[in-house]
Amino acid sequence: MDLKKFILDIKDFPQPGVIFKDITPLLNDVEAFKFVVDEFTKFVKETGANVIVAPEARGFLFAPAVAYAAGCRFVLVRKPGKLPRTVNEVEYSLEYGTGTLQMHQGDLHENDKVVVLDDVLATGGTMDGIIALCHKEKNISIAGIACLIDLAFLHNDDLKNKYNLKTLITY
Ligand code: 5GP
Repeated sequence: MDLKKFILDIKDFPQPGVIFKDITPLLNDVEAFKFVVDEFTKFVKETGANVIVAPEARGFLFAPAVAYAAGCRFVLVRKPGKLPRTVNEVEYSLEYGTGTLQMHQGDLHENDKVVVLDDVLATGGTMDGIIALCHKEKNISIAGIACLIDLAFLHNDDLKNKYNLKTLITY
C-alpha cells in the first residue's frame, strides 16, 4: 500500500523552518491504519518479542493495537511527571538540547524481549534514549525497533547496523 499519501507535510510546525510529518490522515483511514498495524504485528511476531515499549504521544497510537494483535505486553515511556509510581529515567538528546524520559520501575522483567515502537525516526535521539531506558532493567534484550516513518536524511546508520529495524515509509 502507498502509505505516503496518508502523510502530510506541514511547513513551519511546531516552529519556523521545520517540516512536520502529520500522520493523522493515516489514522483516519480504516485500511491504512489496519495495514500499518498488521505490518508491525508481523514484524513483532518475527522477532519473537514478548513486550512492546512505546513513548508518548504518538507511539501510543499504534503500540496497544500491535500488542493486542501480537499477544505482547505494552509498556509506556512518558515525559517527567506523568507516571505515578517509582520510575527509571534517562536523559536523551533532542535536536536542540536534551529531554528526560521515564518508565515505571519493574514494568520490564528479566529476559524480556522488547520491540520499541514509535511513529517517526528523525535524529534517532528518542530511540537511543528509550533503548537506554529499557536497559535500566536487568537482562532485557532489544529484539527490534520499529517506526512508521524513517526520516533517513536526519540520522546515520548506527541504529540500523546495531538493531533489527523495521520502517514502513522512508524519506
Ligand atoms: P528524534 O528523537 O528521532 O529526533 O525524533 C523522533 C521523535 O520526535 C518521535 O517520538 C516523533 O514522534 C517526534 N517527531 C520528530 N519529527 C516528527 C515529525 O515530523 N512528525 C511527527 N509526527 N513526529 C515527529
